[in-house]
Amino acid sequence: MPRKGTENEGDRGNPVPDCIFCKIVAGTIPSRKFYEDDAVIGFLDINPAAPGHTLVVPKQHFKLIVDGTEEQVQKAFIGVRNVAGRLRSKLGCNAFNILVNQGREAGQAIEHFHVHIIPRVEGDGMRVNPPDRKMKDPEMDQILSKLR
Ligand SMILES: [Zn+2]
Repeated sequence: MPRKGTENEGDRGNPVPDCIFCKIVAGTIPSRKFYEDDAVIGFLDINPAAPGHTLVVPKQHFKLIVDGTEEQVQKAFIGVRNVAGRLRSKLGCNAFNILVNQGREAGQAIEHFHVHIIPRVEGDGMRVNPPDRKMKDPEMDQILSKLR
């Protein structure tokens, strides 16, 4: 199935020259990496929201989840599972937020798909819940009719 996009190299999963995560994957920029499998690496976020805040980054470049192949996305989340397991077994983390910002408007700063795993502890004061928005039934039904 063809995929649209302007980053032709990225569309094929090849490294993109100015992408910081492609450089970290290649090892030309250092990172605090502690996990690697055939498809992803996991390393500590340079600006952690909490101790152990980790980024899981596919080795192949794609921007959005809808740009990745099913296999790329599956393997990315298998990596997330394994990294979360490492955080639990080694750091004793039993609660996490797993976040994926998709697109600039959603706060995706690096245009290379990545998953944040943020360990949480009781009383850490972090808030990631979106605000409540009331929507009327006709609006909800209109959206639903477009999606079906
Ligand atoms: Zn990249």
